[in-house]
Amino acid sequence: MPPSIPVSSTESGVVAETTVLSPEASVSAQENVVAFETATKATPTRWRDFGNYLLARKTALGGLIAFLLIATIALLAPLIAPHDPLQQNLADNFKPPVWEEGGSTNYLLGTDPLGRDLLSRLIYGARYSLTISLSSVLLGTALGFAIGLVSGYFGGLTDTVLMRLGDIQLAFPFVLFAIAVLAVSPERTPAHLILVLSISSWIIYARVVRSRVLSERGKDYALAARALGASRWRVLFRYVVPNVWQIVPLIALLDLGFLVIVESLLSFISLGLSPPTPSWGTILADGRQYMMITPWMAIFPGLAIAMTVLSISLAADGLADFFDPKLVHGKFHRLPLPGPALLPTCEDDAGPLLSIRDLTTIFPTRAGSIEAVRNVSFDLAPGQVLGVVGESGSGKSTLGLSIIQLLDAPGRVAQGEIRFMGRDLARVGNTEMAAIRGAKIGMIFQDPGASLNPVLTVGAQLDETLRQHRKLRPAQARVAARQALAAVHIADPDRVLRAYPFQLSGGMQQRVMIALALASAPALLILDEPTSALDVTTQAQLLDELASLRERLGASMLFISHDIALLSGIADTIAVMYAGQICEIGPRDQVIDSPQHPYTQALLHAVERVTGPGRSRLDTIPGDPPDPTQLPTGCPFAPRCPFSMPVCVEINPAPVVTAPGHSAACHLLVPDPVGSRNGAREALV
Ligand code: SF4
Repeated sequence: MPPSIPVSSTESGVVAETTVLSPEASVSAQENVVAFETATKATPTRWRDFGNYLLARKTALGGLIAFLLIATIALLAPLIAPHDPLQQNLADNFKPPVWEEGGSTNYLLGTDPLGRDLLSRLIYGARYSLTISLSSVLLGTALGFAIGLVSGYFGGLTDTVLMRLGDIQLAFPFVLFAIAVLAVSPERTPAHLILVLSISSWIIYARVVRSRVLSERGKDYALAARALGASRWRVLFRYVVPNVWQIVPLIALLDLGFLVIVESLLSFISLGLSPPTPSWGTILADGRQYMMITPWMAIFPGLAIAMTVLSISLAADGLADFFDPKLVHGKFHRLPLPGPALLPTCEDDAGPLLSIRDLTTIFPTRAGSIEAVRNVSFDLAPGQVLGVVGESGSGKSTLGLSIIQLLDAPGRVAQGEIRFMGRDLARVGNTEMAAIRGAKIGMIFQDPGASLNPVLTVGAQLDETLRQHRKLRPAQARVAARQALAAVHIADPDRVLRAYPFQLSGGMQQRVMIALALASAPALLILDEPTSALDVTTQAQLLDELASLRERLGASMLFISHDIALLSGIADTIAVMYAGQICEIGPRDQVIDSPQHPYTQALLHAVERVTGPGRSRLDTIPGDPPDPTQLPTGCPFAPRCPFSMPVCVEINPAPVVTAPGHSAACHLLVPDPVGSRNGAREALV
C-alpha cells in the first residue's frame, strides 16, 4: 500500500524560512551583497587558536622558535655583537675558538686571517642575509601576487602578455639570471641584491596565484556574488582573494629558505655583497681557503646557513594547514577500530544484512571534535530499502561514507559496530575493506559527472570494475559491460561504451554510475542523493529503474535524500536524521502517516501535496540546524521545536518505541516527563 503522501515534483522537502523572500522585499542588489557578506564573515577564532595550534605541532614550534631567535640576533646585532665586524687586528689573526688551546674569551669563536672577530661577523652576516632574503621575498610576493590576481581574473590579452613574460623569464635558470646581472653590476649593495632576487622570484607566486584565481572565479559563490550585483573588483577582493591568499605565505616561507641559500651562494662566489661587508657566504669562502689550519672558519657559517634554512622549512611545513585549513590532512589510510573484525554470526544466517550499533563518526578540528554521526543504530534486512532523510548537515552522507569506510581524513569512526555479512566494517583491515568496496557494497554519489573518470571511456571504466571484482577475461568483461548498461535501460549500449562521460547527459551518466555500482552484484547499494542533480522526468525514470533492479537483483539499498516525499515512493523503512542522530525510524507508511517526532512532522508539512486541499504556501521550519561544534546538551531540535519543554534543553531524549519497528527520540513520547507542559502530548498527536 503506497503511503498517503504523493511524490512532489518540487525539489526539496525542507523550505528554510530564511530563503523565502517576501514580495515586499525591496532591498537593492548592493545591499543584498553587503548583507550576504556580513552573514558569512568568519570570526577571527583562528588567530586565537594559534597558540594551541603551535603547541600541538612540536616541530613547527621548534622551527619557529629557532628562526625567531636567529632573526632576533640579526635585529639586535649592533647591541650584542662583541666587536666591530670590520675592525682588523692582525696581532690576533687566526685565533681559535675559546674551547680550543690558545683560544680567548675576547674572541669566543676565534678570528679570521685579518684578526676580525668571527662571532661578530656571523651576527652581522645574519643581519645582512635575513634582510636581503626577507626583503626579496616580500617584494617578489607583492609583485607576483598582484600579477597573478590580475592575470587570472581578467584573462585575455593581459593574461597572455604577463604569462609570456613569465615564460621568457623562466627560460633562464633563476641562479644564472642573478649571476649574469650581478656579474656586470659595478657595485653590489643590499638594495641591488634585493632587486635582482625579487625580480627573479615573482613568477613563482604569479603562476600559483593565477591558477587558483582561475579555479575560484568560476565557482558558484563568485558567480552568486556577481548575480547579487557585486562589481568585478569587489568580487575579486572580497570573494576571490580570501580564498586564494593562503597559499602565498607557505610559498614565501619556503622561498625565504631558498633565498638564504642563494644569497650565501652569490657571496661565496664573490657576486654577493661587496667586501668587506660581512655575509655568511663571504665568511664561508674565506674559511674554505684555510680549511686545513682553521676549519672552524668554514664550519660556523655553514652551520648558521643550515640552521636557518632548516628552521624555516620546519616552520613552513607545520604552519601549512594553519594558513590554509583545506590542507589539513590526517593519516592517508583509515585507522580501523581496535578489536576483532570477525563476528560470531555467519554470512548465511537469517537476520539483517547490515546492522549498525552506536555508530559515532568524528571529525577532529582545532575547535574540537565534531560528532557528525552520533550513536546511530539500525538494521537493514536483505532486499529492503532504508531511506535516510534530513536537512543538509544532518549527517546522512557521513553515515553512508562511514559504512563504506571512505571518510575524508581526519574523519573517522570513533565507536560502534557496522555489522555486515559477518564482519565488523569498523574493525576490518584496509586490504579487506578495499576488497569489500565495489564487490559487496556499491556506492553512488550525487554528481555522476564528478564521479566518473573524465579521461576514460565508459567501456574502459566498466571493464576495469568487472575484471577487478569478477575476475573476467577481456572478452567476457566486454559482454558483461554491455549487459550491465542494458540492465539500466540504456538504449544503445555499444555507443555509450565508446563514449567519454562528458559526452553523456546527466541522466545517462547516473545510469552508467548505477551500472558500474551494480556490475559486481553487490549485496548493499548506498545511494547518496542519486537523483538530486537530475531533472524531474529523469529522476522518476531512475527511481523506477532502481525499484525494478532491486526486485531483480535483491540488493539492499541505503537511499540517502533530503526529500522525504521522494523516499516515500521507494523506501521500506525511513530513518529521519537531525544533528547526527536518528530522531525517528520506522516503517515507511507509519512514518509518513503517523509521524511521532516534531521534526518529522515539520519535514512532512514542508512538502507540497498534489492531492487534497491546496495550500498557498508551504510550511517552513524556523531557525537553523545547530552548529556541529556547539551541540546542545539537550534535544538538538529544541531551539526550533514548537513543543519544547524545560526538560528538552536539559536532557537529550532516548528513543522510545511507539509501535513494532517504529521509534522516535522525543520527551513528548515519555509519559509525564519532568518539566513537560500539560497537553503537549495531545498537541503533538
Ligand atoms: S524532545 Fe522536546 S524539543 Fe525535542 S523534539 Fe521532543 S518536544 Fe521537541
